[in-house]
Amino acid sequence: MKSICVFCGSSPGAKRVYHEAAVLLGREIGRRKWRLVYGGGSMGLMGVIANAALEAGAEVVGVITHSLDHKEKGHRGIKELLIVSSLHERKATMAQRADAFVALPGGFGTYDEFCEILAWSQLGIYNKPCCILNIDGFYDPLLAQFDRAVAEEFIHPKNRSRVLAARNVTELLDALAKNL
Ligand code: AMP
Repeated sequence: MKSICVFCGSSPGAKRVYHEAAVLLGREIGRRKWRLVYGGGSMGLMGVIANAALEAGAEVVGVITHSLDHKEKGHRGIKELLIVSSLHERKATMAQRADAFVALPGGFGTYDEFCEILAWSQLGIYNKPCCILNIDGFYDPLLAQFDRAVAEEFIHPKNRSRVLAARNVTELLDALAKNL
């Protein structure tokens, strides 16, 4: 069974399209009999994708810290809710359990999680597909920043090419299928 680690906002975001994308991705993870690994909360897009995946029959594994269990409302309806001591342990546990990483729209936490995976990947610590779900162009500025860093010779083109980007869930699933 393939495990897809999804990083996404603990907030729902301003637009309905973010919610819809999270529902669609959760459903497709379930339909493919994949496992969802995520931050374990029940709020925002995190809760939306977990519920959609659960409803579609996916195995859902959440990883949350003791201190965030209350704030982000650790999801008690999932197969496994791992409660760890630190954010570092949370990220490491999610990464170990994943075959691929996906970033949905989110805030600092989401960028931190996704960029850490990229930074570690370029050091050869991980070699697993990393894909941005660029719904409604939300991640255009971040992707442009990555391109700028390549142009300014801070990111090697080989490492830039580690970042797959998809404009919708269908494209994302195609990209994952080719790279898993
Ligand atoms: P956000 O995108 O800011 O809504 O955060 C998404 C998730 O990332 C939330 O579950 C946050 O608790 C988590 N998060 C925030 N900062 C970090 C961090 N430094 N390391 C790991 N997870 C984090």
